Amino acid sequence: MNIMVTNDDGINAPGILALAAALGELGTVTVVAPDRERSAVGHSLTLHAPLRVFELRPGFYAVDGTPTDCVNMGIHSLLPHRPDLVVSGINHGANLGDDVTYSGTVAAAMEANLMGIPAIAVSLNTTERRGHFDAAARVALGIARQVLANGLPADTFLNVNIPDCPAEKLQPTLITRQGKRSFVGTIIDKTDPRGRKYYWIGSVTPAFNDEEGTDFHAVNRDHVSITPLHLDLTNYESMKALSQWPL
Ligand code: MN
Repeated sequence: MNIMVTNDDGINAPGILALAAALGELGTVTVVAPDRERSAVGHSLTLHAPLRVFELRPGFYAVDGTPTDCVNMGIHSLLPHRPDLVVSGINHGANLGDDVTYSGTVAAAMEANLMGIPAIAVSLNTTERRGHFDAAARVALGIARQVLANGLPADTFLNVNIPDCPAEKLQPTLITRQGKRSFVGTIIDKTDPRGRKYYWIGSVTPAFNDEEGTDFHAVNRDHVSITPLHLDLTNYESMKALSQWPL
C-alpha cells in the first residue's frame, strides 16, 4: 500500500511523526507537509506564488505552502504512484463541530477526497505540548486499516478526533455527527507600542453544545469520534423553501 501523510502543524510536529511511524505498518509512507505551522488556513490553495519543495530525508517532503497545496503536490508531482490512502494529522488540538471549516487538517483530507482518494483527518483533543500522540497514532492505524480493507462509502471522508489519554483509558469508538459551537470567540483589541490599535481573534477556549450523538459529546467522554463528512454543502431542505420565492 502507498500512503501519503500530511498535516497543518508543519512537518516537524510530533503528531505527524507519530502518525507516519505507525502507518509504516501498512505499507510505504510518504510525508508531504507544510514547512511550518499552517493551522486554520482552511481549504486554501496557493495560486499566486510559486511553491518550493525540500526533501528533508527520503520520503519526507516539506512544502512552503498550505495542506491543500501539499496534497496537490504529493499526488500530482512528488509521489511515484497515486496513493491508496491520504491521512492528515495528527493535529495538535481537536477539530470538532463547525471548526472543521477552518481546519487545514480537515481540508487536506477534503482535497484528497475531491481527487477520489480515500482520506482521513486525525486530531488529538489536547492543549498540552506533549499529548498522547503515540496512543492516538495506534488508533489512526486501526482506522486506516479498516478504510484500506473495506473502502469508504461514496463521497465520504473521515474526521477522526481522539481524546488525549493513554490507550487503556480510551473508550470505544463512536460514529458521530458534527456538533455546534455554543458561542463564537471574542476579539481582543489593544494598542501597540507605536500607538496604533491591533486586534487578535479567538483567545477563548471553544465551547460546544454538549448534545448526545455529536463529535464533541463523544470526545468529551473519552470516546474516539469518527464523523463521516462530505463536501456537498447544499441545504436540500432550503431548496424547497427558496423555490417558493417569486424569482
Ligand atoms: Mn493544526
